[in-house]
Amino acid sequence: MRLLIVEDEKRLAVSLARGLTAEGYAVDVVHDGIEGLHRASEGVYDLVILDIMLPGMNGYRVCAALRAAGHDVPILMLTAKDGEYDEAEGLDTGADDYLTKPFSYVVLVARVKALLRRRGPAGGASPVHTVGDLKVDTAARRVFLAKDEITLTTKEFSVLEQLVMRAGEVVSKSDILEHVWDFAYEGDPNIVEVYISTLRRKLGSALIKTVRGAGYRLETRP
Ligand code: CA
Repeated sequence: MRLLIVEDEKRLAVSLARGLTAEGYAVDVVHDGIEGLHRASEGVYDLVILDIMLPGMNGYRVCAALRAAGHDVPILMLTAKDGEYDEAEGLDTGADDYLTKPFSYVVLVARVKALLRRRGPAGGASPVHTVGDLKVDTAARRVFLAKDEITLTTKEFSVLEQLVMRAGEVVSKSDILEHVWDFAYEGDPNIVEVYISTLRRKLGSALIKTVRGAGYRLETRP
């Protein structure tokens, strides 16, 4: 899962990014509204955390512009207490949720997870995906194969998550790269292959099929 933080208070932005990275998300940070709109329009983000008072373009305008362009990425607005804008206005412009500063980090993470779940397939009712013997709990970030829990690194989990959310479909290498690595990553795109082979080693080689020239598919009937 890849998140975009648009926040001009650099210390806040950096600490949010650090915390969310530790939760296993790929996180990009930008500090002004115009750059935020530009990045969010690329369509690679699973969620945008958007401050309201921003240089360049305020958060409401960024949000409204994204919705007007047809982007349905979940948006969590950060509002300032007693500011000149109110929460109702934030929701009117198409934000999915809002959080009033100062907020607790734990609450922020809970809101982020709830929004990502809501967006998941089939209405996102359950964060647990079961495919044959494989069970992936995207909320608890735990993986089971039959009755055994499998230990995965954060990145391994994130790659598996992309496949399991679209089980039975082909997921391209660039889709995986975009959703699991942040834009600071400038390494070899073949890194995805490295993670796929590790996942095969841990979960069994039949589970993830390579579709030549297209990507990878998590087999629903291995
Ligand atoms: Ca601000």
